[in-house]
Amino acid sequence: MRREQVFWGWGEPGAGPSLPGHATAFLRDELGVDGAVVARPVALEQVRLREPALDTGLLERLDAITGSVRTDREARVLRCRGKSYLDLLAQRAGACEDAPDAVVAPADHDQAAAVLQACAEAGVAVVPFGGGTSVVGGLEPLRGPFEALISLDLGRMDGLLGVDERSLTAVLAPGVRLPEADRALAAHGLTLGHVPQSYEWATVGGCVATRSSGQASTGYGRIDANLVAVRCATPLGELATLAAPASAAGPDLRQLVAGSEGVLGVITAATLRVHPLPEARRHEGWLVASFEQGCETLRQLEQAGAAPDIARLSDEDETRYTLALAGLPAAARRALGGRCLLVAGWEGSAEEVERRRRVARPRLASRRLGARWEHSRFAGPHLRDDLLDRGVMVETLETATSWSNLAALRAAVRAALPGTLTGCHVSHLYPTGASLYFTVLARQEGDPAAQWRALKAAATDAIAAAGGTLTHHHAVGRDHAPWMPAEAGDLGVGILRALKERCDPAGVMNPGKLLP
Ligand SMILES: Cc1cc2nc3c(=O)[nH]c(=O)nc-3n(C[C@H](O)[C@H](O)[C@H](O)COP(=O)(O)OP(=O)(O)OC[C@H]3O[C@@H](n4cnc5c(N)ncnc54)[C@H](O)[C@@H]3O)c2cc1C
Repeated sequence: MRREQVFWGWGEPGAGPSLPGHATAFLRDELGVDGAVVARPVALEQVRLREPALDTGLLERLDAITGSVRTDREARVLRCRGKSYLDLLAQRAGACEDAPDAVVAPADHDQAAAVLQACAEAGVAVVPFGGGTSVVGGLEPLRGPFEALISLDLGRMDGLLGVDERSLTAVLAPGVRLPEADRALAAHGLTLGHVPQSYEWATVGGCVATRSSGQASTGYGRIDANLVAVRCATPLGELATLAAPASAAGPDLRQLVAGSEGVLGVITAATLRVHPLPEARRHEGWLVASFEQGCETLRQLEQAGAAPDIARLSDEDETRYTLALAGLPAAARRALGGRCLLVAGWEGSAEEVERRRRVARPRLASRRLGARWEHSRFAGPHLRDDLLDRGVMVETLETATSWSNLAALRAAVRAALPGTLTGCHVSHLYPTGASLYFTVLARQEGDPAAQWRALKAAATDAIAAAGGTLTHHHAVGRDHAPWMPAEAGDLGVGILRALKERCDPAGVMNPGKLLP
């Protein structure tokens, strides 16, 4: 039996850390929230669902193809949405009226292709479901012009399909979760080197479909940079690319599938470049004099080819609340005097790690803090559930831009989020620029969903106006789709639309996502 997350939050029940006692003072002082529990998620039996709208003929056909069709309450509620703040507000309130009419789980490429064909013929929308960790409304059960919708659950298509140790490539099934992929690769002395904060649950197919970035992507590269070949089932047939190391045979079809977010078809296998398991891992925390100085140091290191594999520089606000939640007393936090937290990590052979640390350390050194980050790198999403219980609005957004524009973009986003406590960090470095990741906290007011939508729209407008990308790694989904013309231009959006019409003429694949 595949492990499942709770339908209203992160992880399995009781699996993660809870808000520490000392967080109460922080919530009171910074957000005006008294820390008492004000709202709990509804029980599964209280979730509101409509009767499934799929006709019996199609259900029987899908069952004959896959032998795995579920229409029960639990399956439909668990496949209803992803894990954004808006998703969690709706799931906690039990608002699943639009939940998928059925959850269909193919076992292989041919079954997936047959399901897509059946749904295209019947006019039934299909939402591919990987790990369910989308934070941009990528799994929202939007039917478009259709009456019924299935969730295409890729959980049965998991596992390592092949390894080429000599070429350092691996073929992975789409539904394999990242820890399981790494466990299978470890038997060959290899790793994906892909560790997003959603690592525990995200799948290989979902990561490719959203062009995900991991915490060590500065070192190992984003998932799209490691994509060697891809196989995709569309309602109109198969799209597959060759596993050549490089090619000049026209535009790169792999990269049309990467980031296609299920609107063209379903990724049924991905060949990824893999990496030798690092012999040594070294993570360190530092305090640097200011955010600006830290950015400058990271730029110089990156452009000199000496950046750490993990580099995460928090601004003053994020430093303050990170250390508050870690238990640093208020007086010690005040003594920081504007200094900012920088986490740096190196992975590789012991010798290589030492050599690279020696190059970077003189430039980083201000005050060393130790290596606590490593132990809490997956804690944030668990704490979010506790914050929601206490009436706190908590969500993240992200972008990327050139080094020259980084400070202006950060200022523009912060200015668009008045009345919030917004922390920011730089986390993925490139020779030409970096990403900015914002965590926004506030006391919930009035209609919490409307409160966040207004802030998110203002922040996204500000990002577009200031020349940042709509998204560096969370993808487009439903939430960013209205801004796609600002990012890609009308012709760019038209090209993507033409591509979709060619692969999915009936328009059943993930309606309302990626394209406005
Ligand atoms: C707490 C938290 C932390 C996160 N941290 C990061 C991070 O550090 N880096 C990062 O990049 N992202 C992060 N994310 C976002 C999310 O984890 C990524 O977008 C991830 O790539 C989604 O993978 P998934 O398997 O969960 O896909 P899903 O959420 O199941 O699907 C994502 C989208 O892709 C489509 N899809 C899924 N599988 C396929 C397939 N096989 N073929 C075609 N389409 C498919 C879905 O229909 C959907 O539109 C985070 C999310 C959360 C909740």
